[in-house]
Amino acid sequence: MQQYIDSYDFKGKRAIVRVDFNVPLNENFEITDDTRIRRAIPTLKKVLEGGGSLILMSHLGRPKKVDPKFSLKYLTGRVSELLGVPVQFAEDCMAADAQAAALKPGEVLLLENLRYYAEEEGKPRGLADDISDEEKDAAKKAVKASQKEFVKHLASYADCYINDAFGTAHRAHASTALIADYFPNDKMFGYLMEGEIKAIDNVLKNAQRPLTAIIGGSKVSSKLAVLKNLVGKVDNLIIGGGMGYTFIKAQGGKIGMSLHEDELMPEALAILEEAKQKGVNVSLSVQTVAGQEFTNDTPQHIFDTHNIDDGWEGMDAAPASLENWKKIILASKTILWNGPVGVFELPNFAKGTLQIAKDLAEATANGAYTLVGGGDSVAAVTQMGYADKVSYVSTGGGAMLEAIEGKVLPGIAAIQK
Ligand code: AMP
Repeated sequence: MQQYIDSYDFKGKRAIVRVDFNVPLNENFEITDDTRIRRAIPTLKKVLEGGGSLILMSHLGRPKKVDPKFSLKYLTGRVSELLGVPVQFAEDCMAADAQAAALKPGEVLLLENLRYYAEEEGKPRGLADDISDEEKDAAKKAVKASQKEFVKHLASYADCYINDAFGTAHRAHASTALIADYFPNDKMFGYLMEGEIKAIDNVLKNAQRPLTAIIGGSKVSSKLAVLKNLVGKVDNLIIGGGMGYTFIKAQGGKIGMSLHEDELMPEALAILEEAKQKGVNVSLSVQTVAGQEFTNDTPQHIFDTHNIDDGWEGMDAAPASLENWKKIILASKTILWNGPVGVFELPNFAKGTLQIAKDLAEATANGAYTLVGGGDSVAAVTQMGYADKVSYVSTGGGAMLEAIEGKVLPGIAAIQK
């Protein structure tokens, strides 16, 4: 049975919390962006202020074995500063029994990187290329078997379990999906997870209409599942960015050197057909800012998107497209934005993406619910200074993308079941 962090009594309880402390470190092991740590703090403070103690567990990077480069010990100072209490460190996440047992209310213990153990991901490591399928199967079974012990051991440290790691909620790992089973009546989401789940539900389950999705980014192939799920749910579907040119070409347009995936043209047409049948208004780009090469200072020219000259490549949305999209955005009550509508990393081709961020801010100020999530639109909206002018900016790139694809995320399901 799922519990709620706001109503749970943490007094005298040890809470084991799956956090996403997968922060970037420089060559001196200094944290270069502590956003992920800061976003977990409200949950952690709630436990401490409620009279509980904390056992924090996370992964950092992708170590394939014990590797000091990926040690969580470099984080203790920053976590301690943000929490305002000392943070103890367990150098081996499987040997923290005594430290966990000695924790008093208000104390905090951070476990070493969970991914030092293959059991966290549940996949065998370092297998030779030339082993047989039977040997591979046996190795997989062995890890799965020892994974049970791994999870049980972690669970033995605590009285309750909180998952606040949305960034890894789409992974069925030991600390995200399996450990919850050991806390049938004492498992819950942290505030960050709760916020992300509410944001997803506001768009995919309880949206105020009209509901609009703006899908951009580079490739149709990486957004196909998103488009297929959304086409049955939204009122308006704006398709922009590099992926838009596959749709234009599939309709017979001339797209010059613009990014496209010929093999996905039938899928693109199928999506347009399905949208038509379902009465969904699809808005493709009508006007494009093109460049002659993929650089910031390349000469620019504006073309009708169906008629881009050879030698030119569509790199940003032009005013006529942006006008169409603005009208749709401002007439919507709920808006989901995933993926930039141009090569926003090059400042001369960032205007379209900036305009979308501004339109979303205006829609939000007018009362619409706006969610920016999954992929580079999060970086764009943050970099452009609009993160606090929309309703919600998701922290989980891959996890949000899978949620928008309509998938059940294992980290969410484990708590809710
Ligand atoms: P995604 O991660 O799928 O959201 O894609 C984001 C990437 O799409 C960014 O790096 C953008 O530069 C890129 N992108 C957007 N529009 C275009 C375009 N017209 N041509 C090439 N790349 C683009």
